[in-house]
This record gives sequence, C-alpha cells and structure tokens, in this order.
Amino acid sequence: MSHIRVRFAPSPTGYLHLGNARSALFNWLWARQKKGHFILRMEDTDQERSSVESSRIVLESLRWLQLDWDEGPEVGGPNGPYFQSERLGLYKEFSERLIQQGHAYRCYCTKEELDRAREQQKKRGIRDAYRYPGTCRNRTDHPDRPYVVRFRAPESGCTRWNDLVKGPIEVQHETLQDFVLLRSNGLPLYNLGAAIDDITMGITLVARGDDHMINTTPQILIFQALGYPTPTFAHLPMILAPNGDKLSKRHAAVAVLDYREQGYLPDAVLNYLARLGWSHGDQEIFTRQQLIDCFNWEHVGRTAAKFDTKKFLFVQQSHQRLLDDAFVGQAAWPFLGARGLQVDRSDARLEKAVGTIRIRARTLVEAAEMMDFYFREPPRMDPQAKADFLTPEIAPKLVALAETLSRLESFDERSLQSAVTRWLEEERLQLKEIAQPARVALTGKRASPGLFEVMQVLGQEVSVKRLRQAAALAGEAS
Ligand code: GLU
Ligand code: ZN
Repeated sequence: MSHIRVRFAPSPTGYLHLGNARSALFNWLWARQKKGHFILRMEDTDQERSSVESSRIVLESLRWLQLDWDEGPEVGGPNGPYFQSERLGLYKEFSERLIQQGHAYRCYCTKEELDRAREQQKKRGIRDAYRYPGTCRNRTDHPDRPYVVRFRAPESGCTRWNDLVKGPIEVQHETLQDFVLLRSNGLPLYNLGAAIDDITMGITLVARGDDHMINTTPQILIFQALGYPTPTFAHLPMILAPNGDKLSKRHAAVAVLDYREQGYLPDAVLNYLARLGWSHGDQEIFTRQQLIDCFNWEHVGRTAAKFDTKKFLFVQQSHQRLLDDAFVGQAAWPFLGARGLQVDRSDARLEKAVGTIRIRARTLVEAAEMMDFYFREPPRMDPQAKADFLTPEIAPKLVALAETLSRLESFDERSLQSAVTRWLEEERLQLKEIAQPARVALTGKRASPGLFEVMQVLGQEVSVKRLRQAAALAGEAS
C-alpha cells in the first residue's frame, strides 16, 4: 500500500446523487491505481437532515457501484465506514485544544444578541453578508450558559493552495469571519468535523465537488492551527443539466439507484460518470480496470460538464454488448422477476434467450422486456397481431407445422430449418405465408428474433404447444 489516502464523505441526507457518486469514483480510482486507501466517512452530525435510512441508501448505492472502501476499524466492523456521529468526543477534544492554543474561543452570544448585531450591521449600511462582530473574541469571563466554539480567523493575509483541478487558488482572509466550529450541543460543524477527520484519518488528498471550495480556507486554517500538514485539494466541477442549470431531478434521474432500477450496469454508470468531466484522448468506453489504469487529475476538466441522457444510454448499451450472454442473463434475471416471471436462475434458456435479443436491448430492463415471451406461458398476445395473422385459414397449417416439429428427433437450428423447408415443399407453401402466423403463435408479437432461433430457445415441447394453442385460437376466430 502506498501512502495515498483519499476519502469520500457523503452527508446522508437523501439519496446518492450522480455528482457525489462521481466524487466517490474519482477518489476510488485514484486509490486503486496508486494502491492507496479509500476511506468512507458518513458525515451524519446534522441531526435534522441526516437519517439512518439515507445512510443505508448511500451505502447500498456504493455497494451496487462496487466502490468498495478500505477501513473504519473503530465502528461498523473491520471495513467501516466511519460515522462522524460516533466520533463526537474527538471533535470536542480538538476544539478544546484550539481554545487552549488561542486559535479558538467560546462565544456566549445569545441568538437575540446576534440578531441585534445583524440589525446594526444592516443599519450601518454594511452590505456584505452578515459577519459575526467578534464580541467574545477577547472575553475572559465564563458565564454559566451555553456557548459555541468559534475559530479566531485571521483578519489579513491570505490562504493559497494549488488545486489539482482548478490550479493555484488564493483566498483573502478579509473575506472570513470567526466561523463556528462546535455548536452549543457539542456537535461539530462541517468544517471542524471534516478537518479533524481528514487529520486523524491521515488523508493526503481531498477531492470533492467545487461547491466546497468556500470551505477549503477554513479547513486549511484549522490544519495549520493544529500544526498538521495540509492535504492536497482537488475540486471537481459540478454536473450541469443540458440547459446549463445545476443537474437536478427536474432534468433527469439523478439518484444512483434510479439507474439500477432502469437496468443500467454499474460499470456503465461509472464509465459515464468518469467521462463527465474527465477525458482520455477520444476514448469513450472504458472497463472498470481501464478507468483505474487511465485516470489522472490532469485531464479532469476545470469547468462543469453537461449531462447527456442519450450519451449515457449509449455508454450503457456499449457495456452491455461487451458482456457475454451468460452474464447478461444473470444480470437481467431480477428484471424478469420484476415482471412477475418466475424463472430459475440456472435455467439454461436464460443465456440462450439473451443471445437472441442482445443486439437490440440497450438496458437490462429492455432485455427482460424482450425476453418476456420466452418465459411467460402463454405469451402475451398482441391483439392486433392476433387479429391480423391468427385467422381460421391458417389454423390447420399451424397444426401441421406443430405435428412436423413434434416428430423431430433433434431440435437444433439446422434440423429445424431443414425439416421446416421440407414441410413447406410438401405443403406447397412459401415460408412467408406461415412465418408471421408462426411468429405470433410462438411470441405473441409481430416482430421477434429469427423464428428458428426462437424455437430453439423455447425447445420442442413449448414450441409445439404454443403452435397448437395458437391454432386453436385461430380456429375460434371468425
Ligand atoms: N459531507 C460533505 C458533502 O457531502 C463532504 C464534503 C467533503 O468531501 O469534504 O458535501
Ligand atoms: Zn459571542
């Protein structure tokens, strides 16, 4: 293992958004490429917004994407993750240390006092956002009432860092205020929790969304105040909707698990997310291993990338094509179940059925939809196809075809083809006269994979049965 330690630190306040998943991905890729550590930390100290259910969804999303994390020894078993809510003592301890060293102080201002200060700033015409006036900066008393801990922010100078994505950044300290580190109930604010965890977890590179750039200076100041080296930072541009707005539910499905539901493959999701804002020449399709091998920070774009549903689907389809029939069959199996079909996972027809539809199926959902007729008994009948092709005149021919098929000793594609050709000659029929009725009989649809392929997947018994059933239906029609 190298010394590289990166982390993904989601706040469990909802589902896992694609943008956050991309932050997780870039960190994970970097850790895997460099044989470093990828640490998962749930930033769940915002009691009003965090929920156990949301933590569960975030973890499930990461597991589905197979972005595995490496540690978390104190809680949750050997493989973590860390939960900030279980580390509150640590934040308290470090905030005490900051107070002792003069980098932080207790602020006893009540809400009323702060409101008043805000009003006064407004009256004096200070137009910038409200800033805490520093009332308690130098107070020496210890009133017996609740307090928050504030950082003593420098009033001059600046903080600089060389962002791996954004380049050199400089932030003037005049823009800072004495930000709160710890609430009066002992819970840390994000900047304290993140900095202390990045310190105690030995994080060497912090890569996250660029909406957090505003927090980087306070965090660097905390690192410096405590005497720890600052990690490297990489701030990833947001993902935008096609119209340039920040991508949200209004534009597309944005929860990772929505894509599982839509029948996307996890590797396709990772591929598409990686390509949103990162490039490697003009290559579009990457396996997971290729992403690990090729990822670098130099080619992460500085500006936001636009989400493109069509391209996402194209990447998904491309990945599905890379996989073999057996794999796609297993991956599509739960979607058959979701359609109410009870298919044995080891059913040999699964793999064969995939072989007949895979060129057209872009997602696992589409694959399951296209394979439905193989497994549904009787198959769903398209009423129009039935009306058009299952006519009384055709009924005896379907019966005769069923007879011919039932006499076959082997049911492979070649035997089928020659037997049917012979039968057509005997009956003085053209294939086209029987092909559509037979297709409707076997699949319930007017369009399907090749007839012989279909018969072969269905097998002799089922093919014969369906032809006879359709003949009966056709006979009844008038
Ligand atoms: N909890 C923060 C978020 O989900 C993490 C930011 C960071 O990576 O430091 O946005
Ligand atoms: Zn105060």
